[in-house]
Amino acid sequence: MPIESTNPTTGTVVDTFESDSGTDRDDRLERASDTFEGWRETSIEHRQQLLSAAADVLREGRDDYAELMSREMGKPIGQARDEVEKCAWVCDYYAEHAAEFLADEVVAGEPNARTLVTYQPLGPILAIMPWNFPFWQVFRFAAPNLAAGNVGLLKHASNVPGCARAIEAVFREAGFPAGAFQSLLIGSDEVDEVIADDRIAGVTLTGSDGAGRSVAETAGSELKKTVLELGGSDPFVVLEDAPMEHTVETAVQARLINSGQSCIAAKRFIVVDDVYDEFLDRFVEAMDGQVVGDPMDDATDVGPQARADLMDDLHEQVEATLEAGGECRLGGEPMDREGAFYPPTVLTDIPADSPADSEELFGPVASVFRVPDEAAAIEQANDTRFGLGASVWTADLARGERVARQFESGLAFVNELVKSDPRLPFGGVKDSGYGRELARDGVREFVNAKTIWVQ
Ligand code: NDP
Repeated sequence: MPIESTNPTTGTVVDTFESDSGTDRDDRLERASDTFEGWRETSIEHRQQLLSAAADVLREGRDDYAELMSREMGKPIGQARDEVEKCAWVCDYYAEHAAEFLADEVVAGEPNARTLVTYQPLGPILAIMPWNFPFWQVFRFAAPNLAAGNVGLLKHASNVPGCARAIEAVFREAGFPAGAFQSLLIGSDEVDEVIADDRIAGVTLTGSDGAGRSVAETAGSELKKTVLELGGSDPFVVLEDAPMEHTVETAVQARLINSGQSCIAAKRFIVVDDVYDEFLDRFVEAMDGQVVGDPMDDATDVGPQARADLMDDLHEQVEATLEAGGECRLGGEPMDREGAFYPPTVLTDIPADSPADSEELFGPVASVFRVPDEAAAIEQANDTRFGLGASVWTADLARGERVARQFESGLAFVNELVKSDPRLPFGGVKDSGYGRELARDGVREFVNAKTIWVQ
């Protein structure tokens, strides 16, 4: 079955790709396994040099890669260019730091022996990745793992096959061996078989918690390690002393980044009573002022949703929330135009346990909650099965840090929107998953921390 790539701005098929099912899949797994045997023996300095070359390839091809993303999943072009730059950054980051992160650690204490920990690669790692940041999600897995001496097999989301092939080509052009990083164009129904394959040593998935549970179950029964980066319903807590202009401006950005389709987008705006009306009025006005349109146009803030079916799911969540008694202050209906366009939307008076309260809304829909005070805000922020990111807005930095420590989340920001950064660990708690990507923690997920004792 060929895999089609559909432009969500127009609804038309822009490209088709042969799938890698059957013998192609097996050939790729074999190549990964063979390549690993040599790759694990290369010096880390060599692997770092190749990563640095990959950063150069990305920067040189930035505009083409950005257009590919916009075409396949509708990302506004300026954000797509930034995404490519960020991928180059993470390659450079591990090109600079991987040796230090993976250096042997000599442990003192045993007078008559040399005792140390070494970090050795595990083998071919399967990466199941989503469409929302089709380059970034892949590079933040690939850069540390290739540096560590693992090889990668990418099962990308089915709506971004062109990005999958382009990423494979980046590594080839940079000089990596053919089996170091390959994409597998297969459906999700084939993933269990790949996980169970003896040649696969570990699995990482970024996506919905449903997909995460399924992958973790299979990997668990095979005793293979997993890292899961799942969804979120990040709280954005506004306290009475928040600098309002900056807070509102960032709130809009935090909700609408990638047309609202980000795991760490702010989704629940929790505002204390004293400033609720002021925040809401200004927020609705600013959301209404965003430009929705062609993602290839630099002036566009919000493009189409990545797939028409995902937009339909989002709209069902909005309708169910309104039927349960919620209010809609802005938007709330798919736009009357070609393509999967959903407008910036603001919901208030959200009933407990309605979709906007309890589920992840993966699109440009903000849910605003009124709470009496800081303690209630923290309680509401943590009243979710997710635990990825969280932010708090206040003029008092000590207060902000105190609140940040009380969030049940993997990332907590004070007066800044939640974002990933190669220098800091990224990941969640609760239903948002486990394990960490990026920084030192990320490069040590799929390695054997081996104790060596020399008497
Ligand atoms: P999925 O979680 O279904 O897809 C993510 C990746 O997992 C894709 O490569 C997909 O492949 C694969 N996949 C899906 N189901 C399985 C499975 N049972 N076993 C193995 N692999 C699987 O996300 P959707 O695209 O369907 O989006 C649905 C919702 O997921 C969104 O509305 C959002 O809430 C959440 N999501 C969260 C993301 C995040 O960054 N945390 C990113 C994307 C989505 P295939 O495309 O072939 O189905």
